[in-house]
Amino acid sequence: MQNIRVRAHAKINLYLDVVGKRQDGYHNLETIFHSIDLHDDVIIRKQDTKEITVHCTHPAVPSDARNLAYRAAQCLNDAVGGIGGIAIDLHKRIPVAAGLAGGSADAAAVLHGVNALFGLGFTRETLMHFGAQLGADVPFCLHGGAAFGQGIGDQLTPLPALPDLPLLLLNPGIEISTAAVFKKLNFSLTKPKKKDIIIRTYIEKGDVLGIGKNLYNLLEMPVFSQYPEIAALKTELSTQAGCYGALMSGSGATLFAVMHDTEAAHRSESHFKNKVRFCTTTVTSPVGVYIND
Ligand code: ATP
Repeated sequence: MQNIRVRAHAKINLYLDVVGKRQDGYHNLETIFHSIDLHDDVIIRKQDTKEITVHCTHPAVPSDARNLAYRAAQCLNDAVGGIGGIAIDLHKRIPVAAGLAGGSADAAAVLHGVNALFGLGFTRETLMHFGAQLGADVPFCLHGGAAFGQGIGDQLTPLPALPDLPLLLLNPGIEISTAAVFKKLNFSLTKPKKKDIIIRTYIEKGDVLGIGKNLYNLLEMPVFSQYPEIAALKTELSTQAGCYGALMSGSGATLFAVMHDTEAAHRSESHFKNKVRFCTTTVTSPVGVYIND
């Protein structure tokens, strides 16, 4: 086998609370991740030179060592003391810097794909361990489905994946830096006591209405105060027919709505199509990375 095509699925956060600041400057989170069907395609080829190369036509995505996909290949190359040349083609569909973990998904796909293509034999747990060194969301992207995340989001407890839950995603085209959002977070304004994760029970029961009504993301507070237009968009999304609840994913700016059915999602998609930069109907996915035949 000379090449492999891997689907790199985006994620959303159905719940996100910040529970403390760490000495290393990062924050401890409690979050519920879910993979979604929206994905990048990552094509990995063996090449004769010893180089790692990344090709990506998206203007906001670097093709050099700053690319997380490159760093994932480099990480495996270093771990085994040299694999050989690797060429990576990224076909981006996941909006960039949008709270959907696009870069982390690509890195996870490269770890999974290179491991398979070169027959390295690393377990998923070992790949997740490598992934944690690349970015906080990479372990979840390898894990896929649904999980409760703690620490910086890298300590995962599996949750039952929600099958084919219809979702509408909206991105207003505002690129938000995760670091800047955390900097703006005012701990004195946040609740000192840990919020009970009621939504987790609803996920375990597969109660979609309960999930929709209990979506929560603390990071909405600093983002909405800086960008009131995103808050207004969320209100408009929440009041669409068939919407069980809406939330900002991660550090934004993507908003998602849990919808009653795909038809309702498509109707709302038509409503928003010309108002936002990116709008799509998707569903939850049981996997984070997947090798296509
Ligand atoms: P984060 O929470 O890390 O900001 P995100 O999901 O909001 O993640 P990404 O799409 O991963 O956002 O992009 C964040 C930054 O990472 C971008 O500014 C981009 O230049 C850089 N980046 C590096 N590699 C990639 C990649 N393979 N795909 C997308 N962005 C990448």
